[in-house]
Amino acid sequence: MPLNIGVLALQGDFQEHRAMLESLGAIVTEVRLPHQLEGLDGLVIPGGESTAIVKLANRWGIPDALRRFIDNGGAVWGTCAGMIVMARELTEPEPEPFGLMDITVSRNWFGRQVDSFETELSVKGVPGGPIHAVFIRAPSVREQGEDVQCIARLEDGTPVAVRSGKLMATAFHPELTPDTRIHELFLRLSAGDLSSV
Ligand code: GLN
Repeated sequence: MPLNIGVLALQGDFQEHRAMLESLGAIVTEVRLPHQLEGLDGLVIPGGESTAIVKLANRWGIPDALRRFIDNGGAVWGTCAGMIVMARELTEPEPEPFGLMDITVSRNWFGRQVDSFETELSVKGVPGGPIHAVFIRAPSVREQGEDVQCIARLEDGTPVAVRSGKLMATAFHPELTPDTRIHELFLRLSAGDLSSV
C-alpha cells in the first residue's frame, strides 16, 4: 500500500517535497485546510518564511488540527522554516510556533555572512554515508526535551536534525538535492517503522 503524505502548501518550497515524495511512490496531498489532513500517514512542513507560514496556518486553524493529527499517530517532518514552526519555543519573539515538538529553536542561527552554506552530514537512521546538506538562512536547535534525539550535528557540535517518535525536524533542505534518503527515512517513520532511528 502506498503511503499518503501531505505537504503543507501555504508558503515555501512544497513543490520540491511533493516531487521527491512522489518519486518514492507516496500519494501526495497539498494541505491548505485542516480537513485535508484526514487519512494522511505523514505531513511535511516545508522551508520558506516561518512568519508567513504561521500567519496563514493560524487563519485556517491548522495548528490545532496538527496537534490532533499527531495525537492520532500522524508523522510530521519540518524542514528549516518547518522546524521553526514545529518548535515548542523560539529564542525570538516572532512568530508564535505551533509547539508540536519539545525543542527550542533559534532562527537565522548562522548569521548574515554565512546565512547559506552546504556541508556533508552524517544522519542517524540514514545508511550509505553522509548526505550533502543545504542550509539557507537556517535555524538551529538550542534545547531539546528528554524524549528528543539529535540525529545530526555539524562538526562544531551544533544540532541540526532531531527526532522524537514520528516527529522529525531538519534545519537543512533535503528536497533541494537529488539524494532521497532523508525522505525515505520520513516515509519509514510515517509507516510506523522506528527501527532505524
Ligand atoms: N530564515 C527563515 C525563517 O526564519 C527560514 C529559512 C528557510 O526555510 N530556508 O523562517
